[in-house]
Amino acid sequence: MDITHIEHIGIAVKSIEEQLPYYEEILGLKCYNIETVEDQKVKTAFFKVGQTKIELLEPTSEDSTIAKFIENRGEGVHHIAYATNDIKKALAKADEKGVQLIDKEPRKGAEGLNIAFLHPKSTGRVLTELCEHPE
Ligand code: ZN
Repeated sequence: MDITHIEHIGIAVKSIEEQLPYYEEILGLKCYNIETVEDQKVKTAFFKVGQTKIELLEPTSEDSTIAKFIENRGEGVHHIAYATNDIKKALAKADEKGVQLIDKEPRKGAEGLNIAFLHPKSTGRVLTELCEHPE
């Protein structure tokens, strides 16, 4: 699939504001962007750790998938996102190998990335995101 690195790790939180002190004061990371992704009903906060990011995900609505995740499994790691240089090719490869795809076509995620999710049923229960930086 030509995975180049871990683009980010998504962590489901009830409140970004409540978690900020841990990331900023304890870990010493700097939150450089807070962004709401309306169609995902989620507010995101980003921290850089080398070339990888931590993405905090706070639900903005009770019917958000993040709200449901927290309800079922509690706060914590939600997904791993791998960077690839060719997301269409990566998706085609996964499809060909019988991986269940949540997104058959890439869509726009936070920070303007092209993203697509693989179903946890096919990935050892780890929700997996593929990301491609637009040219
Ligand atoms: Zn993500």
